Amino acid sequence: MRLLEYEGRLLLEDAGIPLPRGKVAETADEVREIAGGLEGGTVVKAQVPVGGRGKAGGIKVAESPDGAAEIARGLLASELKGELISKLLVVEQVEIETEYYLSVILDRGRKGPVIIFSPEGGVDIEQVAEEKPENIFEVEPDPLIGLQPFMIRELIYKSGVRDDIFKPLYGIIEKLYSAYLRFGATLVEINPLASTPGNDLLALDSKVKIDDDSRSMEDVEAILPESEGTGDKTEIERRAEKAGLQYVELEGEVGVIGNGAGLVMSTLDVLSQKGGKPANFLDIGGGADAELVKEAFDIVTSKEGISGIFVNIFGGITRCDEIARGLVEALGDRKFDLPVIVRLTGTNEDAGRKILEDYGINAVSTLDEGADQIVKSS
Ligand code: GDP
Ligand code: MN
Repeated sequence: MRLLEYEGRLLLEDAGIPLPRGKVAETADEVREIAGGLEGGTVVKAQVPVGGRGKAGGIKVAESPDGAAEIARGLLASELKGELISKLLVVEQVEIETEYYLSVILDRGRKGPVIIFSPEGGVDIEQVAEEKPENIFEVEPDPLIGLQPFMIRELIYKSGVRDDIFKPLYGIIEKLYSAYLRFGATLVEINPLASTPGNDLLALDSKVKIDDDSRSMEDVEAILPESEGTGDKTEIERRAEKAGLQYVELEGEVGVIGNGAGLVMSTLDVLSQKGGKPANFLDIGGGADAELVKEAFDIVTSKEGISGIFVNIFGGITRCDEIARGLVEALGDRKFDLPVIVRLTGTNEDAGRKILEDYGINAVSTLDEGADQIVKSS
């Protein structure tokens, strides 16, 4: 599970990592009060489980407590990158000299943790990796002997940071690594790790992912107030989960609905083969009724940037007429400009086709045909 920033902060704080002072709030009044208790300007930060909040307008600087409350009113209950903002973190504003990047990640390829440090922080580490790979420094602690002092020293020296950063950075690397182990994390990332004019290092933003199955969950829950566990799930994923549907988000443009994991997987394969890019997929499982199909359609189409929908149904216990009814209900008389291609075969196929035809959709009978059509029309 991915923790929200303020939750991750509680773990880092417990691990002794220096952070700007601050607290989480749910109302503009609370924000004013917290800001009033901090010195100087404050930063008001939207607590949503996505990165790049700064650029999207979710991180704002306030000069006064009233200004912070004003910002809070603008942010609360609004959406940031598709996520509803219900909590704000209010922290003291820090004067930043340099932004660094530091993380411990579980590298599945290397079957163990890797510590990554870069003197280029504040931006996406993927971007640094692509543009200036020479600015990324790594060390792989041996799982048996652990993280040795010489490894930390070597990592810092290789990166060429200023001497006066050495000591605080050394301490933070040690602490971040033990936090990673103690909390059963798969990622603990500080970006930016900022140096201030006084040469202190502070974790200004962090991202923490915990392995839900790990035995360390107890340690995590003891520190978090009420772990919401909504962490890494987006609004759409939560909605699908509520409906009992398997939903997976992908990068492309075509929304995909199918029944059964195997069928959905082959749908994605054939679609990709034809040059189509799936935006997401949703498995409605066996025996779905019209109501569930309608919900499935609404979920898949609620993703931004969809260029068409491909519904692939192989009727068995799932009845084609129920599917058709659900789709027609979902489409209703709303104007849905995007192409909807339906492949329908199996139980009650004729009845299903008739329902769709009356609505104006001609179902195809093979996966190949359907994939061809959606690629051509979307
Ligand atoms: P993200 O955009 O979701 O990664 O959110 P961050 O918390 O990393 O904030 C984005 C950027 O805002 C940081 O890289 C900083 O440059 C800036 N920022 C955040 N907090 C402060 C602060 O206290 N002082 C200053 N000067 N800048 C800040
Ligand atoms: Mn950040």
